[in-house]
Amino acid sequence: MLTVFGSVAFDTIRTKSKVLKNVLGGAATYAAIASSYFAKKKPGLVAVVGKDFPKKYHNLLGRYLDLKGLAVENGKTFRYDGSYDENLSHRTTNKTELNVLGKFNANVPEEYRKSRYVYLANNDPKQNTRIIDQFDNVKFSMCDTIDFWISTKRAEVIKMIKKTDCVVMNDEEAKLLTKHHNLVKCAKKIMEYGSKYVVIKKGEHGSLLFHGNEIFSLPGFATDKVVDPTGAGDCFAGGMMGYIEKKDKTNASTLKEAIVFGNVMGSLNVQRYATDGITKVNKNEIQKRFREYKKMINF
Ligand code: AMP
Repeated sequence: MLTVFGSVAFDTIRTKSKVLKNVLGGAATYAAIASSYFAKKKPGLVAVVGKDFPKKYHNLLGRYLDLKGLAVENGKTFRYDGSYDENLSHRTTNKTELNVLGKFNANVPEEYRKSRYVYLANNDPKQNTRIIDQFDNVKFSMCDTIDFWISTKRAEVIKMIKKTDCVVMNDEEAKLLTKHHNLVKCAKKIMEYGSKYVVIKKGEHGSLLFHGNEIFSLPGFATDKVVDPTGAGDCFAGGMMGYIEKKDKTNASTLKEAIVFGNVMGSLNVQRYATDGITKVNKNEIQKRFREYKKMINF
């Protein structure tokens, strides 16, 4: 089983063509839904929302995920507000309101504790580190982070990395965390923190997988259909984790294949606004995108 832990949010997303206010978002939302297209059974979601979280979002999440681990607490749901530049390549955070997420004391439901696969989506690194200890039998764990946590809780981010097998983050975050400019040096430093595998995402430019001295590089899926990149990184990670759980293998070649599916899921997500990119797709579309992508990278 795969369990995903992280933020479920109300997002306000500002692009040149559209402003979306308080729509369903959150790193765990995107990642867990993306993983569900591959996973053998509904992935478990461990997260917290406030009493303001509407039933329609609860129902939507329930279509893809097991929600025993979704706590509803007094207070407001986590809120994120971000604006994209004209090219949709850079996002500025306007506001991060932790609300119920700030003091969340996650409790992994009994049925999830035997999960072989755990993904710690972007979330307070202290909470992520604490939760990993609640699992009994993890075969492969992966974590993500964001500039907000690197700037406010850097030491905790490093502790979290030490506890997981693989870390996935974008190039800017890797530079901010390690204080190196060269991505190979960044990855080496992150491996020194204790991670066996490091995945560095470069947005539309693809991703790099580092393992020991081995480097695997993949381009992004080239497309002119991009309306909202929110959650692309989470869908990338979710696609990876879902694929790894399905294969039940954690060797380097499986991770390479997993990254291919990560790219596929990320590229599908950016084509529609908010979670529509990941909810309005189906397995046929995913396979079709995989074939197109395979053709693109073969020569
Ligand atoms: P991405 O575009 O992959 O960076 O993911 C965007 C999602 O991450 C949004 O839906 C946000 O709700 C969520 N998010 C943004 N900042 C944070 C944060 N500091 N902690 C947890 N989740 C966040």
